[in-house]
Amino acid sequence: MPQTGPLTPCPECGAPANGAETCTDRYHACLALEYPNPAYAQVHHFTVLAYMLQHPSQLSAAGWQAMKQLLGRFLLEGISPTRMRELLQKQMQHKSFSMVKGEPMPPPTWHWRKTILDVRLGNAEMYCADVRAWAESVHNDIQT
Ligand SMILES: [Zn+2]
Repeated sequence: MPQTGPLTPCPECGAPANGAETCTDRYHACLALEYPNPAYAQVHHFTVLAYMLQHPSQLSAAGWQAMKQLLGRFLLEGISPTRMRELLQKQMQHKSFSMVKGEPMPPPTWHWRKTILDVRLGNAEMYCADVRAWAESVHNDIQT
C-alpha cells in the first residue's frame, strides 16, 4: 500500500506524523466546513490565527507579532466575528508593515501543546470547543 500521508512530524509546528493527513490538509478541511456553515464559522478567526501562528513560514516577523496580539485580544475580549473582520480590515488599511514581506519570522522553538490535528471535525459544537481550546493553548504557549 503506498503511503500518501506524512511520515515525519510537521516541519513547522511539530505535529506528529499520522500517516493520513498534514496540517495543511486539516486546515483546508476546517475551512471547507466553516465557509458554508455558520455554526462552524463562529470560530473562523481562531482557526486562521492559531494556524498561522503555528505555521509562520509565510509571515514576516511583524505580521506574526500582529497576529499574536490579535489572538490575545479576541480571546480576552470575546470579540464577535463581525467586529473581528472590521478590525482586520482596518489593520490592513493602516498597516505600517507587511504581513508577508520584510524580515521573515524565525521558526518558533517552543513545543506546542495542541495543534490543528487535535481539532475534531465531527459536529459544530465539538469543533468550536476544540478550535477554541487549541487557540487558547497557542496563546498560552507563545506567552513564554
Ligand atoms: Zn503543522
